[in-house]
Amino acid sequence: MLVILLALTGGIGSGKSTVSLLLAANGAVIVDADEVAKQLQAPGGAVLAAMVERWGSGILQPHGTLNRQAVADIVFNDADELRALNKMTHPAVRREMARQAREQADTGAVTIMDTPLLVETFDKQPPFSGIVVVDVPPEVAVERLMRYRGFSDVDAWARISQQADRQERLGIAGFVIDNSGPPEALDEQVLRMMAWARTLPHVDPPPAPRERVAGDQPSAN
Ligand code: ADP
Repeated sequence: MLVILLALTGGIGSGKSTVSLLLAANGAVIVDADEVAKQLQAPGGAVLAAMVERWGSGILQPHGTLNRQAVADIVFNDADELRALNKMTHPAVRREMARQAREQADTGAVTIMDTPLLVETFDKQPPFSGIVVVDVPPEVAVERLMRYRGFSDVDAWARISQQADRQERLGIAGFVIDNSGPPEALDEQVLRMMAWARTLPHVDPPPAPRERVAGDQPSAN
């Protein structure tokens, strides 16, 4: 059972989601950490239950879905609460991502784990065939977060400063996608990246991790 398994990362506002869509359009199979986290935080999800246990039902909307802004207000102003959120979320997300990667074993697909906090959780990650970093200067990320995603200047810088810094990310990159230019400049880089991916060693897909969050059910496989 072997897989070409890449990690894709980049700081908030780097354009990682944009690159991820392009990679999918070029035939890659994307395993998206944010998407998996959202599923686990949906009503009935194990992570949502753990969050309500810690912060109370005030973090829910009237109809029971997560009020993301309420959680953001808690965790992005308090490092302890952010740590608690990560502890509730990350192991469960990693387990589900590993399961999805295992499904791609021996399919020949270039499988890409889209992981925003790769550097921060590197010791817990499976072996990858290679690591791709989407890179922009932080000023560009802030500008795009303000222009397109409605962040204030202060919030954008706060989010960036809570993540690994640019040099740390570049330090683990096997392939860097420079997104400081226009979106059109991504096409050629993505094609080159996919060609590079096909030259990389296949790895064993990640085993089912043993870690789990409180209240979470062990997976069947
Ligand atoms: P991330 O997933 O890394 O947080 P996104 O892909 O959401 O970043 O990009 C942040 C914002 O910047 C989005 O609104 C996106 O459409 C826009 N964007 C991405 N790449 C570029 C680019 N090269 N030029 C201009 N805007 C871009």
